[in-house]
Amino acid sequence: MSSTGISSLSAKRKGEGVGMGADLGKSQSSSQGTSIGKEDKGNSRKTTLVPPKCLQDAKASNARGKLTKLQDVAALIRNRHCRNIVVMAGAGISTASGIPDFRTPGTGLYDNLEEYNVPYPEAIFDESYFVHNPLPFFSLAKKLYTENYKPNYIHYFLRMLHEKGLLLRLYTQNIDGLERMAGIPSIKMVEAHGTFLTASCSSCRSPYPASKAKAEILSDKIPKCKRCTGIVKPDIVFFGEDLPKRFHSLYRKDFYKSDLLIVMGTSLEVNVLVTIMFILTL
Ligand SMILES: [Zn+2]
Repeated sequence: MSSTGISSLSAKRKGEGVGMGADLGKSQSSSQGTSIGKEDKGNSRKTTLVPPKCLQDAKASNARGKLTKLQDVAALIRNRHCRNIVVMAGAGISTASGIPDFRTPGTGLYDNLEEYNVPYPEAIFDESYFVHNPLPFFSLAKKLYTENYKPNYIHYFLRMLHEKGLLLRLYTQNIDGLERMAGIPSIKMVEAHGTFLTASCSSCRSPYPASKAKAEILSDKIPKCKRCTGIVKPDIVFFGEDLPKRFHSLYRKDFYKSDLLIVMGTSLEVNVLVTIMFILTL
């Protein structure tokens, strides 16, 4: 489970699957940071964070030092010491479903985009590149539309947390939709890097029927906006685009309320998650 499952509660491990979601997340480094800063300026109320009760209890009983193994965390969950669990998930949770990494030689997404002569891997999620050449991204979209990927045991672990009433929110960087497919309701998720379930114009942002965009992409046609003829894309967050409103409206409340944070499938080098972790230390 360590390779694709729960990384750790404070993971900083390199070399994990750098996948579609993970690389995409690096795009938000500037825009996200600015956005957070503005919010902080406007928030004059000082918030004092206290350790979650389960950790206070553990410390009081001199048991904190024992929270070093996955089994210790599992015991906390099983014994219901933590009832508001927030999960941050990255690309690593989907590799067991066959979703390719970004850069793995031979099987990685980048290697399979060579025919499009992509100048650098992240170009596939770069809005300025997309408007000139949407084919690499549409190639990825076709793959996700047609490959019939299935959720794996990690996704179903998250669903189990939900069914037991323990999942406060799942923040996922992944765009493969496997969390939804596993049965986790949308109200319990924040799809930080967007979703294929909706689509809009990359220029004027007018909504566009996602089913129509999908049909056109699958037919190797480029969906065009009726209003301005801009290229339509599924609502996946690209470089330079802000995160979904749902992310901004929920993350503070959720993380203050949470009593356990599980980080899985990510090395925490992705800005969206790192930003949240930074806020938690303020
Ligand atoms: Zn438009």
